[in-house]
Amino acid sequence: MSHFQTQLFINGGLTDSGGGKRINQINPATEEVFAEVQSASAQDVDKAVQGAHQAYEKQWRDLAPQKRADILFSIAHAIREISEALAQMESQNIGKPISDARDEVELGARIFEYYAGAVTKFCGQTIPVGRGGFDFTLRVPMGVVAAIVPWNFPFPIACWKVAPALAAGNTVVLKPASQSPLSAITLGQVAHQAGLPAGVLQVLPGAGKEVGDTLVTHPLVRKISFTGSTAVGSRIMQLAAGDIKRISLELGGKSPNIIFADADIEQAASTSPMSVFANAGQDCCARTRVFVERKILEPFVEKFVAATRQLQVGNPSRAETQIGPLVSAAQRATSEEFIAEARKAGRKVAAGGGRPLDKGFYLEPTVLLDVEPEDRCWKEEIFGPVVCIRPFDTEEQLLREVNASPYGLSGSIWTNDLKRAIRMARLVESGVLSINSHSSVHVEAPFGGFKQSGLGRDLGMAAMEGYTELKNVYVAG
Ligand code: NAD
Repeated sequence: MSHFQTQLFINGGLTDSGGGKRINQINPATEEVFAEVQSASAQDVDKAVQGAHQAYEKQWRDLAPQKRADILFSIAHAIREISEALAQMESQNIGKPISDARDEVELGARIFEYYAGAVTKFCGQTIPVGRGGFDFTLRVPMGVVAAIVPWNFPFPIACWKVAPALAAGNTVVLKPASQSPLSAITLGQVAHQAGLPAGVLQVLPGAGKEVGDTLVTHPLVRKISFTGSTAVGSRIMQLAAGDIKRISLELGGKSPNIIFADADIEQAASTSPMSVFANAGQDCCARTRVFVERKILEPFVEKFVAATRQLQVGNPSRAETQIGPLVSAAQRATSEEFIAEARKAGRKVAAGGGRPLDKGFYLEPTVLLDVEPEDRCWKEEIFGPVVCIRPFDTEEQLLREVNASPYGLSGSIWTNDLKRAIRMARLVESGVLSINSHSSVHVEAPFGGFKQSGLGRDLGMAAMEGYTELKNVYVAG
């Protein structure tokens, strides 16, 4: 039925699952099943972890850093060689607009390059202690890392966990989401063909609970690097507590987009719709709570709605498409429930709210006005193309409402007052902020959340720290 690789990737080869379960892959733009992927069993998880552990001890941990760097550079090169096929695969698998999919594959390659360079520049310290003696620190790898990733940015998130973990000397068992396993299986294959020894990167597609639980509780797994929902992150944290496994969690968000009256309103309003509707709103950094200073509320909303109506919604394979379908019927149904509830409570739907096409899991970008702080659509992560806009009067009120959220992942602050920008950047409880911009992810900079948005940091050198233990050695003088 399919020309995609649909098996597990273990110990350097495509492998049939021992359990025989299959997961249908549905193209969200056509609603048709286009592939069946094998689902790993508990035995497969054990085999993959054992293999990764052996590869860690016998192959990867003690490889010369320069050699490790060379292999990571080769992986980046190999990704670029098949970039168009990877982008098409990702677009078909989750309905991602092809232009976004191309950018994300390129991002994956750049991530491997960044961490290839980091291998030989990541080092410890010497510390003067005692008389004559001194301490030195070592950054040592942990062993087998379990990387569990979601379906909204499958390829770049897999890369931003796998690359630093490998760069630091660990081996990795990668579990993609059941909706989006194809690019992960290909990554395993491509990395091996580029010179990564067998067992250093294993890929286990499969159901979240079955594969996830076995992986998270496996005694040979030393660290779990998870990106996904706060509910599953919390469960992983509890399971990991059993043997004090290291964890990093990148979780949900309800990020603010704050527009002060002194900002460049034109720029803020024209760019803000894509800060929430990109990827059909299925973005942990989506700026879903827009706070607008009351005196500019009307002109801002008018421009925001006009810009929203101009977004190109449609078939993800067209180059001009900006918004594709949601990943599944269930994901769209959740968004529709939030919209229906808002309508029932008398909130204004200023744009969207309906299905633009008969086939495919499409939903129009939707703008809700007159919402109240206690509304579910204002408080909870929707993970679909729905935004709420509310006015504010004072900085004090603004900060109270912004920081009332249990989340704290990302956000934007629009102002031309430098002192205010700095004050807000200090006081907004969030791991990642942008001033007069909507950008959240930079390969070179740490990425992660405050509060229920997560624990630990991906990207930048912070990720390398997160994949190592810090060892201190005293040398007598
Ligand atoms: P999810 O939590 O349902 O699934 C994420 C991954 O965990 C998948 O691979 C899934 O199969 C696996 N999983 C599910 N149950 C598990 C279990 N019991 N044990 C172990 N693994 C399990 O999330 P999702 O629906 O795939 O992704 C959407 C969520 O991810 C949103 O909340 C979004 O905000 C969040 N997200 C966060 C970031 C970030 O960097 N903070 C980035 C992307 C997505």
